[in-house]
Amino acid sequence: TDPGRIRNFCIIAHIDHGKSTLADRMLQLTGVVDARQMRDQYLDRMDIERERGITIKSQAVRMPWTVREGDQQGEHAVLNMIDTPGHVDFTYEVSRSLAACEGAVLLVDAAQGIEAQTLANLYLALENDLHVIPVLNKIDLPAAQPDKYAEELAHLIGCRPEDCLRVSGKTGDGVPHLLDEIVRQFTPPTGDAAAPARAMIFDSVYDVYRGVVTYVRVIDGRIEARERIKMMSTGAVHELLELGVIAPEMEKAQALGVGEVGYLITGVKDVRQSRVGDTVTINSRPAKEALGGYKDPKPMVYSGLYPIDGSDYPDFRDALDRLKLNDAALHYEPESSAALGFGFRCGFLGLLHLEIIRERLEREFNLDLISTAPNVVYRVLMEDGTEVVVTNPSEYPTGKIAEVYEPVVRATVLTPNDYVGAVMELCQGRRGTLRGMDYLSADRVELRYTLPLAEIIYDFFDQLKSRTKGYASLDYEPSGEQMAELVKVDILLHGEAVDAFSAIVHKDKAYNYGVTIAAKLRSLIPRQQFEVPIQAAIGNRVIARETIRAIRKDVLAKCYGGDITRKRKLLEKQKEGKKRMKMVGRVEVPQEAFIAALSTS
Ligand code: GDP
Ligand code: MG
Repeated sequence: TDPGRIRNFCIIAHIDHGKSTLADRMLQLTGVVDARQMRDQYLDRMDIERERGITIKSQAVRMPWTVREGDQQGEHAVLNMIDTPGHVDFTYEVSRSLAACEGAVLLVDAAQGIEAQTLANLYLALENDLHVIPVLNKIDLPAAQPDKYAEELAHLIGCRPEDCLRVSGKTGDGVPHLLDEIVRQFTPPTGDAAAPARAMIFDSVYDVYRGVVTYVRVIDGRIEARERIKMMSTGAVHELLELGVIAPEMEKAQALGVGEVGYLITGVKDVRQSRVGDTVTINSRPAKEALGGYKDPKPMVYSGLYPIDGSDYPDFRDALDRLKLNDAALHYEPESSAALGFGFRCGFLGLLHLEIIRERLEREFNLDLISTAPNVVYRVLMEDGTEVVVTNPSEYPTGKIAEVYEPVVRATVLTPNDYVGAVMELCQGRRGTLRGMDYLSADRVELRYTLPLAEIIYDFFDQLKSRTKGYASLDYEPSGEQMAELVKVDILLHGEAVDAFSAIVHKDKAYNYGVTIAAKLRSLIPRQQFEVPIQAAIGNRVIARETIRAIRKDVLAKCYGGDITRKRKLLEKQKEGKKRMKMVGRVEVPQEAFIAALSTS
């Protein structure tokens, strides 16, 4: 394809503002999907995406478009549309998608106005030098206020309110005009066709039949079928089995040239062989320099995952191995816990990522899992100068600690004026530092905070929503680390620490944590033959204490001596029950008690 005819663009928006629906309409209006094949959120291919109505993996589709109106009327263009995930956990994928485009359609729900991720995505687009077309969506809604939000949007990006297009992804109203404007306003790709090939990987997925499918945008040169390609970050060389474009199913092609977006198949089985952000070149004539911006996705949040039924462990391990093929950001290693048995310590990009992985494991692999309370990664400097990176609270060092560092994020909260007080109170309670405050319009305020990541991975988002009746929105990005006064709280059962409940918390919150967990365990653990103290402790210092009083479990006494078979039956039954008991020191605890204590915390 002549690069002059190509327009590569993405649609960016706050979650639920209608990206996927607009993408659907574009597929239909350009004729690549006919009405019969059409289904909602066509590009959201994973079940879980369709059910939750969110986009997790980016997708790219090629669409022909003949300009209908204006001075370019009749021009045949080739549009490559890249649908992006809208959630904070997947910001890195969004940023890679953006880097594959020249333009971005910034979509804003005309009944909602600008939200936190509208801003975050806009800033990402501007950082990538993309031309932005502001678009108000859902104008069919009775509650739509396009005039009001056109003002807001124009103010934000520095254009005139009349430059904001108005569409309905649902009815298709305004969408043909938007497609015309995409051709008119966005610039075609520029690249050096004669140079050694360089293509940027913006996504890769594992397909059971084909292995890894890598989505690329060619920047310079040309990639031809049957060549050997090289991944520039690792130097790994692969045979290219097939390449092509997505329109919207895979279509084989002979080559991908400057500006083209398409897929590569090498037969490799693990997506980590073709990492998002990496540069692909041709082995026989490799480029000298990789394209910028490659970054290893680093887990931000860790949690222990355990099969509720210990005999599921081998299946669980296989399931993780399979999911890993599809998710370069998933990390895991085996761990064991006195309370929960054998499992894995898993690293995730964020809480949504954790939830999605867990749900996929349970659903696609039929596993019942329990996850320990999520924690962030801490860096501990010891007095002797050594450094320990802690991803599991039970591995917190015991020696003399000099300093502890925790990750922090830059958070942006957008809220109606009325809730500013409530939001500030919440952020302060979570050890936040206010960095700035701006009025986007008369009644909409942007608050910028620095917050410890540990404080927002819990129920921050739920709290934010409930304190603002659902009106506030949140976006955050990692912003380094800060020194903090953190302590490790251990929970001891009859003097033995229960690893699954150890937590690293701020010193001001340690007491509260200890009291809560101790009380919870007391109500969940059955009485034993002897008295069992439950203690919360920081090092040797006990900060909270509960006691489970002793009972005499004299079940056999009920059998009045004589009936031996009945006695035996009772003993058998007790043995059955013991299988699901975990021993913590001398204390027998039903696994259910641990599970209940963890899942309600
Ligand atoms: P995404 O998260 O940005 O991909 O948003 P979706 O496309 O999944 O849309 C979120 C919700 O808004 C869905 O329930 C859509 O049916 C609805 N929606 C999207 N576009 C429109 C529109 O133009 N008009 C109306 N009334 N609803 C829409
Ligand atoms: Mg979507």
